[in-house]
Amino acid sequence: MFRTLDDLDAKGKRIVLRADLNVPAKDGKVTDTTRIDRSAATIRELAEKGGRVIILTHFGRPKGREEKYSQRLLVDPLAKAIGRPVAWADDVIGVDAVEAVNAMKDGDVLLMENVRFHPEEEKNDPVFARALADLGQAYVNDAFSTAHRAHASTEAIARLIPAYAGRLMQAELEALGKALEHPEKPVAALVGGAKVSTKLDLLGNLVAKVDYLVIGGGMANTFLFAQGVAVGKSLCEKELADTAREIIEKAKAANCQIVLPTDVVVAGQFAENAPSKVVPVDAVPEDMMILDAGPASAKSIVDRLSDCRTLVWNGPLGAFEISPFDAATNAVAKAAAQCTKEGKLLTVAGGGDTVAALAKAGVEEQFSYVSTAGGAFLEWLEGKELPGVVALTPKKSGCGCGH
Ligand code: AMP
Repeated sequence: MFRTLDDLDAKGKRIVLRADLNVPAKDGKVTDTTRIDRSAATIRELAEKGGRVIILTHFGRPKGREEKYSQRLLVDPLAKAIGRPVAWADDVIGVDAVEAVNAMKDGDVLLMENVRFHPEEEKNDPVFARALADLGQAYVNDAFSTAHRAHASTEAIARLIPAYAGRLMQAELEALGKALEHPEKPVAALVGGAKVSTKLDLLGNLVAKVDYLVIGGGMANTFLFAQGVAVGKSLCEKELADTAREIIEKAKAANCQIVLPTDVVVAGQFAENAPSKVVPVDAVPEDMMILDAGPASAKSIVDRLSDCRTLVWNGPLGAFEISPFDAATNAVAKAAAQCTKEGKLLTVAGGGDTVAALAKAGVEEQFSYVSTAGGAFLEWLEGKELPGVVALTPKKSGCGCGH
């Protein structure tokens, strides 16, 4: 485990905090403050303990300094979220940055301009990282969502000054650890979404770790096709049939049971309220496409979940954006939420459209943990090491007081 805020004596220290405040905005105004609100706990805690909190964050993919990517618009919403004034620095290095930091008192919070205005950030440049590190005496990373990238403010800096996980990072790492590294068994993974090709590494990693792998969405069609099922006009990566068969073999060898739909909802076109019907998987009409798992499949997934203690979920079971092809996703999501409420199941979900699908099912708040980290969550599901996590200071080394 890594050092957390519990190991950091923040009082009087200049603390460089890497947060992910990458929020949507329109006409210079923030339209959704979720990420700001989620980051508030760490900022508030450090400031309340008397730390001088220097916040680094990124937005977009600017080519040098581009005003449309300025982070200044975050100052007011951030101040509101943490209930304290927030000062502003026009750059992360140089005279402006140093002057702003020197003007800070204990408990002050300073937001700095977009760290990606410097191309050295994404190059993980050691000289730039040294300049960022020199701003503070300790470093806190609360941006799990950028931890899959080795950038100066997420990786190199953590090797230069004592590095701690912020509360958000800590919560994410704890939830992910409980779900796959040391889970209560049996463990089920539900993987849906459009294509097998984007999830090969993920499937390969999961079959070695879970007891049940439930496959849904468009990618289930490829697995069905690989087993000789005619899938009509369905989305299907026929060229990946061998790969699908290899994954099935790997699962068998690892004692992981693959669960595929036994009935499906088919329609003539991919459109809202397109006329549809439920058919067994071996009776998909040639001129129709599979757009959802059928009710019997959804019920059998739910029955299996009632025997499980842990569920990891990535990707919808059908074309959830268009009704009625959200039915299986909704039914399984609601059942998983109910098991979570009853304390029988730990539910961890995230990546891509999953957050939207669970929100549409109305259960986002009822899962044990829903990660909004996107790419970082997926890389973790693939079993990859995340550079921003690996670079954090392990708990056992050092005196733990930030020196
Ligand atoms: P992903 O980003 O890989 O999780 O894929 C999510 C997308 O998969 C959503 O836009 C769904 O509409 C789509 N999807 C799920 N099931 C199907 C299906 N049977 N046919 C076509 N698209 C699907």
